[in-house]
Amino acid sequence: MALPSLDTLIGYPDGETRGTGTVLHRELLPDGRAAVLLDATPFHPLDPTWPDQGPDLGVLVTGAGAGAEAGPIAVLDCRIAASDGAELHLGEKLPVRLGTEGWAFVVAHLVDADAPIAEGDTVTAEVDEEHRRALSLGHTSCHLASLALNRALAGFWSKEVAPDALGSPDFDQTAIASSRIRPHGSVDEYRLGKSLRKRGFDSARLAAELDAVAAAVNGTLAEWVTGDAAVRIRRDDRSLSTRRFWECELPDGLASIACGGTHATHLGELGTLTVTLELDDDGAAMRMITMQSA
Ligand SMILES: [Zn+2]
Repeated sequence: MALPSLDTLIGYPDGETRGTGTVLHRELLPDGRAAVLLDATPFHPLDPTWPDQGPDLGVLVTGAGAGAEAGPIAVLDCRIAASDGAELHLGEKLPVRLGTEGWAFVVAHLVDADAPIAEGDTVTAEVDEEHRRALSLGHTSCHLASLALNRALAGFWSKEVAPDALGSPDFDQTAIASSRIRPHGSVDEYRLGKSLRKRGFDSARLAAELDAVAAAVNGTLAEWVTGDAAVRIRRDDRSLSTRRFWECELPDGLASIACGGTHATHLGELGTLTVTLELDDDGAAMRMITMQSA
């Protein structure tokens, strides 16, 4: 069957973990797996362009066909792919920006090549709820920690930089090297080298005051979690490439951040939320480890 010309419709931004879809396309891959595309899915895929939150785990359950073996098919991996109508691009890098006109952006569910699933099948997609929940808590924690870090470092700048969603100088966006969401937390890596210092950041002061900065971040986080503000994902429609925003009414104002992930619905769900800050030996990089526990 031809590749779909429309984006996959996605349910995970609203917290969906279960949904019914039709198999639009099935394609064998060189690595011995098969990519399955549905018209709609609750599965959160890895975004190769900004791979912060990893793929959901779970199964696709096909209906009992005539003589066919029905049963759960494990989803081995799940990632965003792009189609120009002729070819499915499933690489480490998307060939074009998400949302580029003339392309369809789809969730590719990777399954065993001999999994009994065919184009035209109706399937129920079931996400592992415990794993999803842990990643959602981790992702919300990550956003809060970056905002709290920006606030704690607001006085460390001697030049103007772009503000974050709450108006603090955006250290996170300016210095970020990588961000990885983990179950119940995240690990963010920041560059503190020459180019950040040139932009007016006092890296030496951060090294000298690292413990005080961590304490300030943790104080802010405790206050925000106690406030138990609601978290929502704002979006105009269910298409995969439609921009989505994480929104939370914090005491400092409404935070709105572009985000493709999944989240808690209230900050109180995060329980105890703390960060640890670590500098590497030459002081050119900092790691922020964020963890929540109920
Ligand atoms: Zn995010």
